[in-house]
Amino acid sequence: MSAINTILKELLEASHLQGVEALLGWDQETYMPEGAGAARSEQISYITGLMHAKLVGEPLTTALEELINLDTGELRIMTLNDRETRQVKEIWRDYRQEAALPAKFVTDLAKHASVSQQAWVRARKDNDFKFFEPFLEKMVQMQKEKAGYLAKGETAYDALLDQFEPEMTSAKVAQLFKELRTRLVPLVQEVQDVKHRVNGSILTKNYDIDKQWDFGMSLLKSIGFDLKKGRQDRSAHPFTTSTHPSDVRTTTRLRENDLKSALLSTLHEGGHALYEQGLPIEEYGNPLGQSISLGIHESQSRMWENLVGLSPSFWRFAYPKLQMKFPDQLRNTDQKQFYSAINRVRPSMIRVEADEATYNLHIMLRFEIEKMLINDDFPVADLPQLWKDKMEEYVGVRPKNDSEGVLQDVHWSFGAFGYFPTYTLGNLYSVQFFNHYKEQVAGSEELFARGDFSALLKWLRENIHSKGRGRKAEELLLEITGQALSAEPFMDYLEEKYRLIYGLS
Ligand code: ZN
Repeated sequence: MSAINTILKELLEASHLQGVEALLGWDQETYMPEGAGAARSEQISYITGLMHAKLVGEPLTTALEELINLDTGELRIMTLNDRETRQVKEIWRDYRQEAALPAKFVTDLAKHASVSQQAWVRARKDNDFKFFEPFLEKMVQMQKEKAGYLAKGETAYDALLDQFEPEMTSAKVAQLFKELRTRLVPLVQEVQDVKHRVNGSILTKNYDIDKQWDFGMSLLKSIGFDLKKGRQDRSAHPFTTSTHPSDVRTTTRLRENDLKSALLSTLHEGGHALYEQGLPIEEYGNPLGQSISLGIHESQSRMWENLVGLSPSFWRFAYPKLQMKFPDQLRNTDQKQFYSAINRVRPSMIRVEADEATYNLHIMLRFEIEKMLINDDFPVADLPQLWKDKMEEYVGVRPKNDSEGVLQDVHWSFGAFGYFPTYTLGNLYSVQFFNHYKEQVAGSEELFARGDFSALLKWLRENIHSKGRGRKAEELLLEITGQALSAEPFMDYLEEKYRLIYGLS
């Protein structure tokens, strides 16, 4: 067997294990009985150990060494074409990350991530940070240890960020955030001065949960989510996971007095799911069959959630249907009023429910806090206070308790430090992609207004999804749009949209 065939066989087997692990994780968040928590953590940890052993095992290592210098990344074979070169380089990148971690550390971390996530669910429900604190404390220590093994980039935080957004650095993120803040803060302020112009109370009437669920499912179908190759369930924190492009699972959460939350989180996760379903199946089991980065993943979810789901043309299509679903609640609200209501800008506590404008302020404070935890040994016990202070500084509101403060997000509980910036990167990417799509496909607004999203999906499939991990994030952006990543197109979009909604000059 040639070296590349040996590698692909080992990677495919590791992908099978990863699929199993994803399914265990999905089940833990959806249907697992509470009492199974400890056993589940052991199962996940064991599968992760098998996966690690496969990914750094002798067959793969020996074969990879034939193709590439494992220390320097220099190719040993000169006959590879572009695709094969990219494939080997990406396999090498993954190998280096995996091989840097001791086997025991990998299984310990997987186990703690599962245990700690379960502790977070309880702590959030009971508004009890003290209960969660030792789990988080241990997780922060483990992430610092991990950063030490990976030892990439300028700081410990950079090493963690690179796992989610390859080749991104915290210095680059900080620069983008600075550009963003310069225009964002005045815009939010201007809107606040005339906030009475938009009333959002229509969204917090009583909306039957089952009807909300049905409406969300119909939207998923409308945007092209293939229910023969996926499903939606409920969880405490909405997420999307995939065991294979033919099995992509999303979740949502529903509340009776909040129409916007489930609607938009369904579209958000639907965007992730469309990306996963559109990955090149013929590359399944090797890096070229995977998504590029979480920033690009978020560009897909945020595009469907915001650029589609919060657009006037989308509501020309969806509002009459929503009105039919909830005639009593929506009878006296016209489409224009509803559009304004669902786009209301209001500084608020919860990131996933934030409007498009203030959303990025939530990310900025998380980025600051993460860096303090990972680079500067900021004490975990002081987090609730820091969170409240930073919320006041960045968003202008102060959480009353930790459930709506530091405990609101799942990410830190399972060790995803360095993940948050990818949300804002996704927002920036999404607008740059979407602007280009609109230039290339005429009449997209008319299509949306008819409930036809197929041209957008086709464009995303061709330009982004089907390319798998064949390029770096910024290469893809440059290739498609001819532009570098920038905060300006996003801010142009926001200013134009919200000046119109709030009647600003
Ligand atoms: Zn997302």
